[in-house]
Amino acid sequence: MMNVPLTITHLLERSARYAPRREIVSRRPDRSLHRTTWRDVHERAGRLAHALAKLGVGPGDRVATLAWNHARHLELYLAVPSMGAVLHTLNLRLHPTEIAYIARHAGDKVVVVDETLLPLLAKFIEHVPSIEQVIVMRDTAAPMADKHLDYEALLAPESPAYPWPALDENDAAMICYTSGTTGNPKGVVYSHRSCVLHTLVACMTDTLGVSESDTVLPVVPMFHANAWGLPFCAAATGAKLVFPGPHLDAASIVDLMASEKVTLAAGVPTIWLGILALLDQDPARFDLSSVRSMVIGGAAAPPAMIQGFRARHKLEVTHAWGMTETNPLGTVARIKSHLENVSEEDRLKVRSTQGYAAAFVETRHVDDAGKVLPWDGVSMGELEVRGPFVASAYLGGEGADRFTADGWFKTGDVVTLDDEGYVRITDRAKDVVKSGGEWISSVALENALMSHHAVLEAAVFAAKHPKWDERPIAAVVLKPDHAATREELIAHLAPLFPKFWLPDDVVFVAQVPRTSTGKFLKSKLREEYGDRLLGA
Ligand code: AMP
Repeated sequence: MMNVPLTITHLLERSARYAPRREIVSRRPDRSLHRTTWRDVHERAGRLAHALAKLGVGPGDRVATLAWNHARHLELYLAVPSMGAVLHTLNLRLHPTEIAYIARHAGDKVVVVDETLLPLLAKFIEHVPSIEQVIVMRDTAAPMADKHLDYEALLAPESPAYPWPALDENDAAMICYTSGTTGNPKGVVYSHRSCVLHTLVACMTDTLGVSESDTVLPVVPMFHANAWGLPFCAAATGAKLVFPGPHLDAASIVDLMASEKVTLAAGVPTIWLGILALLDQDPARFDLSSVRSMVIGGAAAPPAMIQGFRARHKLEVTHAWGMTETNPLGTVARIKSHLENVSEEDRLKVRSTQGYAAAFVETRHVDDAGKVLPWDGVSMGELEVRGPFVASAYLGGEGADRFTADGWFKTGDVVTLDDEGYVRITDRAKDVVKSGGEWISSVALENALMSHHAVLEAAVFAAKHPKWDERPIAAVVLKPDHAATREELIAHLAPLFPKFWLPDDVVFVAQVPRTSTGKFLKSKLREEYGDRLLGA
C-alpha cells in the first residue's frame, strides 16, 4: 500500500475540490451573517499562508489565535498546519495572566486576534516577549494601532495558490492547553495524523456520523479541543458549517439553528440547559425540525435534560465524553442494536452514560493500587485510555505522572464500565465526595436534582465535616418563577439513594460558577461553602 501521510492539507484540498459551493456561515459581532464557501476558504487559506510566510512564519512556528468561532478562524485552522506551522488556540475566557503563561509556554510567535478581543490582548501581550506580530481580524473601520497588521490587508495582495509542502504526518499541527483547574495548564500537541484519524473516527455513523448533507454548528469554542474536531469533520465531508461568533446566548444559538437549518450542533451541558429552558418557555417559537443530533459533552449531560429535549421537543441528544488530551472524542453514548427494543426508561439510562469507546480508543479502569478492574457495572476506578489520537505526553514533559509505564493515559475520571463497555462517570477524581471512607457520586445526585421540575442547575460538592471528613452539599439554581425548599429537594432524592448519600445542605445560588470552558467550577463552591458544616 502507498505510504501517503495523513495530513490536514488533504482536508483543505478536499473541501474545495468536492464541496466548492457548500457554505460557511458566521455571525459577526454586529449580529449580521457573513457567508462564504469552501472554495473561498481554500483560496483565502492560500493567501494567508503566503502572508504568514512573508512575516517569517516557518515550519514548527506557533501561530496563536485569540478568536471566537468564525470563517477566518477556520481559514487559520486549515492554512497554518498545512504550511507546516502550528496553530495554538488561546482560550479567551481565561484570566489574562493565565493566557500570558500559556502563550509564553508555547512560545507563540504571531497572534491573530479578533478586533473585539484587542482589549483582552492588551492585558497580557507585554508578558509574552516571543510574540513578534499581532494580526487583527476586523469587522469595523475603527482605527487600528500602527504596530498591528490588518488580516484582510495582508491577504489582499497575495496569490490564492500556495505550494503546500509535503509534511510528515507526525508533525505538530495544533496546540491546545488543558483547562486544568489545579496547577498550571498543560499543553497538548496534536499531530496531523492524530487530527486526521480523529476526523475519520468522529465521522463514523456510530460516533457523530457527520456527512456531506449535514449543517454543523459548533457551539463549542474553537479554542476548546479544536471545537471537538468538527471543523475538520466538515472539511473532510464537505458539510456546511455555521459559526455563532461571539453570540452564545440561548436565543442567538437557537435562532441560528432554525434559520440555517442546522442538523448537528455541539456544546457543553450548560449551553444546552439554557436552550432547553428557552424552548420550554415558548415551544412554538422556533422550527428545529432540521436538527437530527445535538452533541453534548465536556461535562455530564443530565438525564432530565436528555429526556426533556426528546419528550417535549423531539430533539435527540448524543452524549459524548472526551478530553483535550484525546483530541477530544473518546466515547459516545450510542444505543447498540440489541438494546433498541428496551423500554424508554432503559434507553434513557444508556443514553445518559458517557457511552462506549470510539474506534481506536481503548478503555480500562483501575483501582488506587493500579489493579485493572472488571467490567461489571459496579467496580469504580479511574478511567485510563489509549489510542492513536490520545496524547503520549504534555508539551515540555510536564505531568508525566498522568502517563502509565504500560502506555495508558490516566484521565482523572472515576468511572464504572459495564460488560458492553459503556462507561459511566461517577465523578472527576478531584471532585469526589468521600464520606466516612465511602464514595458518593456527585454526578448521580446532580442528575437526580436536575430531574426536579423547579431545578435549572445543580452542582454537588464536598464540604468538610468534623465527623465524616466530607459530606455532600448541593448548590442549586431554581428555574425562573419556580420555588422549592431544601427539605423538598432532599425528599425528592431520598427514595433514590442510600441515606448517607443525601446532601447535608442545599444552598440556593443565582448561578453555579463556571470554568473557562463552561463547566461547573466546584473548587469555587468548595472555597465559598466548604466550611459550612464544620460546626455540625
Ligand atoms: P477538557 O479537557 O476541558 O475537555 O475536560 C475533560 C474532562 O471533562 C473529562 O476528563 C471529564 O471530567 C469531563 N467530561 C467530558 N465529557 C464528559 C461527559 N460526557 N460526562 C462527564 N464528564 C465529562
